[in-house]
Amino acid sequence: MTIVVTGSGPAGLTYALRLAELQASSDIILLEEHRQLGYPPHCTGLVSLSTLQREYPKLWKEASLTLIEGANIRTRHGVELSIDVGKPIAAVLDRRLFEELLGKAVEASGVTVKLDTQVKSVDPSRRRGALKGGEVFGYDILVLATGATAPLNALVGLERPKGLLPAVNAEYQLERAVEHRYVYVYIDSRVAPGFFAWIVPLSEYRVRVGLGATSKPIERLKLLEKLDPFGINLAQARRLQVYGGLILTGGPLKKYYSGRVVAIGDSAGHTKPTTGGGIAFTSIAARLLAQASVRADSWDDVGPLFQARYNKIIQREVKLMLLARRLASSMNDVQISKLLSILQGSGVVDEIARGHMDFHGGVLVALAKKSLETKPVTIAATLLQALLRLFF
Ligand SMILES: Cc1cc2nc3c(=O)[nH]c(=O)nc-3n(C[C@H](O)[C@H](O)[C@H](O)COP(=O)(O)OP(=O)(O)OC[C@H]3O[C@@H](n4cnc5c(N)ncnc54)[C@H](O)[C@@H]3O)c2cc1C
Repeated sequence: MTIVVTGSGPAGLTYALRLAELQASSDIILLEEHRQLGYPPHCTGLVSLSTLQREYPKLWKEASLTLIEGANIRTRHGVELSIDVGKPIAAVLDRRLFEELLGKAVEASGVTVKLDTQVKSVDPSRRRGALKGGEVFGYDILVLATGATAPLNALVGLERPKGLLPAVNAEYQLERAVEHRYVYVYIDSRVAPGFFAWIVPLSEYRVRVGLGATSKPIERLKLLEKLDPFGINLAQARRLQVYGGLILTGGPLKKYYSGRVVAIGDSAGHTKPTTGGGIAFTSIAARLLAQASVRADSWDDVGPLFQARYNKIIQREVKLMLLARRLASSMNDVQISKLLSILQGSGVVDEIARGHMDFHGGVLVALAKKSLETKPVTIAATLLQALLRLFF
């Protein structure tokens, strides 16, 4: 039995590791086009402690740069919401180191890892793939963990992930210290139309600053520096490196498999539509796909079994998150500020602080209820306007 995994991001690595843990006798081959694991970087690396402790208990601490206890959200019109959980809820990871450590665990578990190896084409009818350079390989199951651009999906009859937003992430050395227990979120359609901007501390004097936007993310990063909404003197800070990527907010594909080819991670849309964060849901997908790979009655049943189990856990959450993302994207800056100012005084902050960082569908419902109770007419009018803009 040969299982070929294409892509060594968190999805491919975690799946290979989970499968090797369940069935050491499998012939598992992991193919990665880059020469090094964890390159090029694109991610901010903010991951909930519940995911890290559940899925990566042995290695996350070594890759953790700092712990986060809350968030400070500001809008263009100066409305502010502070959420302090009072204890660590997330870690900011050195993503390159995280993938390196994960890669070592994968190799130690007996998986063959081949770097500098790009899969160029797949012929599902013959269960064969071809590498750049012409070498051909066969597979019983082929797992596509190729990230947001999903270059091989179309070749096997899978759709590509939807809701991709260009994003930029940059690291800065600050002159002025920042409170590094919090992440900072800025909502302003001039800076991040259709999404938001963030500042995630790595230490007191070092931060990752990023934004997702429907267009021109680099130009908008310069505007964010100039506006400096959190007063950390961003324009004077030393910009150390800038990298880009695609944030995925469109929810999962309708079907993650086609015959014996199964997609996971970003290439299957396994992210949180609210934030684009992918490691939480991807790690769950990887575990479920590994279980399906050893428990399905036949190879042809692996994809359907995986999809049914994943949907059972995630589908309701994703539906609520998609609705929240669509509503938020269709509101203008004034409406969002109005909504946040209503929430400010409604006791909802405690509700958010008590909620789950990854499974926040319940919190979203509570927020909607609370805001409707507090200012029914204003909220109903705002939501109605947003819904009309969404559908017409
Ligand atoms: C700006 C930004 C910030 C983000 N911040 C966060 C965050 O704070 N927290 C969080 O949880 N998520 C975050 N995300 C999302 C997160 O980075 C992704 O969800 C996650 O990396 C998905 O993992 P993956 O393994 O599916 O894909 P990737 O990490 O993209 O890995 C895919 C791998 O497949 C390889 N590959 C592709 N095609 C081939 C081929 N044909 N042959 C061989 N190899 C191939 C690629 O080289 C790559 O190594 C962020 C994303 C962006 C863009």
